[in-house]
Amino acid sequence: MFDPDDFIQLSALQHMAFCPRQCALIHVEQTWTESGRTAEGRIMHERVHEEGRASRGDIRIEYGVGLRSLKLGLIGKADVVEFHHQPDGSWLTFPVEYKRGKPKKDDCDKVQLCAQALCLEEMLNVSIPGGALFYGQTRRHLDVVFDKSLRSKTEETAKLAHELIAAGVTPKPVYEKRCENCSLIAECLPKTLQKKRSVKSYLNRMIGD
Ligand code: SF4
Repeated sequence: MFDPDDFIQLSALQHMAFCPRQCALIHVEQTWTESGRTAEGRIMHERVHEEGRASRGDIRIEYGVGLRSLKLGLIGKADVVEFHHQPDGSWLTFPVEYKRGKPKKDDCDKVQLCAQALCLEEMLNVSIPGGALFYGQTRRHLDVVFDKSLRSKTEETAKLAHELIAAGVTPKPVYEKRCENCSLIAECLPKTLQKKRSVKSYLNRMIGD
């Protein structure tokens, strides 16, 4: 169990799953940049993060729900948590996360949503089999099942994010295709810094020779 002083932001898991360097730039170095894309995402989040509640038929909806997990050492907020009334009178908890773009090939968004579910399970003492991601660009819901493998990946990502943030060391950049979709590419300079490393290793090799 984590002490609340050692909690990290739940969003760090999405950053960690995307790129450990991005996670360190944001959560260790507090680097942030507001490109048009992140501004749009922020506004979308602010809208859904406003606290409140509504109902739609047999569904109760809570907006901007505070989250925490002592087990994973996380604190954050869920955009939307739906409670679906079941025929036996119980309520099924169903988290929904809003994203600006479109579904991604990687699991970053699923890991973030699963982390929300793990927090809610611990807070409400319930079992949550699934949730959904809503993508603004395609205006579609993507159902996500919180199976064993996604749960393990989420727990492992939380562990790695804690270790990275506690170590306080930002990993060196490695330029990959994902960098083109990274909001921190201008601050990270993956191509330039990688080139610098290459010159250094070239000189080391020369001196070694
Ligand atoms: S630009 Fe690439 S290496 Fe740098 S933080 Fe983003 S994804 Fe990571």
